[in-house]
Amino acid sequence: MKKHYLLTPGPTPIPPNVALKEALPILHHRTSEFAEVYKDVAEGLKYVFQTKQEVYTIAGSGTAAMETAIVSFLSAGDEIIVADCGVFGDRWKKIAESYGVKVISVSAQWGKAVKPNEIEKALNANPNVKAVYTTFTETSTGVENDIKKIGEIVEKSKAILVVDAVSGLGGQEFRTDDWKVDVAVSGSQKGFMLAPGLSFITVSPKAWKLAESSKLPKFYFDIKKYKKSYLTNETPFTPPVTLIVSLQEAIKDIKNKGLENMWDEYKLLAGAARAAMKALDLELFAEVPCQVVTSAKVPENIGGKIVKTLREKYGVSIAGGQGDLKGKIIRIAHMGYIGKADLLVGLSCLEMVLCELGLKVKLGASVAAAQEILLKAQRG
Ligand SMILES: *Cc1c(COP(=O)(O)O)cnc(C)c1O
Repeated sequence: MKKHYLLTPGPTPIPPNVALKEALPILHHRTSEFAEVYKDVAEGLKYVFQTKQEVYTIAGSGTAAMETAIVSFLSAGDEIIVADCGVFGDRWKKIAESYGVKVISVSAQWGKAVKPNEIEKALNANPNVKAVYTTFTETSTGVENDIKKIGEIVEKSKAILVVDAVSGLGGQEFRTDDWKVDVAVSGSQKGFMLAPGLSFITVSPKAWKLAESSKLPKFYFDIKKYKKSYLTNETPFTPPVTLIVSLQEAIKDIKNKGLENMWDEYKLLAGAARAAMKALDLELFAEVPCQVVTSAKVPENIGGKIVKTLREKYGVSIAGGQGDLKGKIIRIAHMGYIGKADLLVGLSCLEMVLCELGLKVKLGASVAAAQEILLKAQRG
């Protein structure tokens, strides 16, 4: 069996202690035993989201919480602003439009961040807007959006702010309450270092008010059902019990390490990854790079080939570009259970693949650049 290194921006590797929890016998979900676990997890999620509000867990990938954040607050014909700059921002539009919601786009070119002042302008020009939907770290481009600034703007309006924090949460500073985020969503397979299959959503009092008037059709993704079950430490439908038990372990790890320490670590890895790309003469793609994934341009559309060769020859998985960026960029993740050694392994194999594909590469250059950054941080 080939040894595998997962350096993709979801799913991410799972720590052994967390993975082992998934192998335990199944608990029944309508028992006090499970309620204890669920209660502990629900409290822990508040810490990770930095919120005092309840955090609901929904079975499904991150998109399940995104759909919940559309159907639970809106009605057909409502106007919303979507501030997008990549595949995941675009997903907000696609979900909203499939339910007959009117989308006002405040788009940034892929590779750039959304402009908070353009959101402000759009809010002023469209006073009936019910909500602003945007993305924290746009995983498809590696860009980070200024949620704190956007929160200050949206707070002053009647609209709620809904943020997709699927890839950024746990990986870099994100403060749901302090940043005035009304609804934040995330998923299990990125910063939480769990298997895919769980999604999470927070709801502020301002958002609950909007939920009262929501008329879009919904059943499984009706946030009110989750709120009701939360009172008895349950979920409305059978939860993926194994994932929730392993989530309890993952949250324990996160608490032990401390969120701030985690943020610092990924910031360091991101700096090392960026220095490595420069050393390879690969131009960074993101104008405002996030801390959880590094994206870089590659010549002649060879992105797909790089990804495939790395995986097949060396067992190292990184990501290529999505949509219009297919072939044009590569993305290396540094989130969840990905550490310094993983990054160094990934970079050295990447260099070999670039050589094999005919690019001029000085072997060791990117590894040395990353090592310099990592060593410098240790010296302080
Ligand atoms: C991974 C991801 C999602 C969710 O995708 P799923 O495949 O549904 O889990 C949403 N937004 C961002 C920014 C992501 O990185």
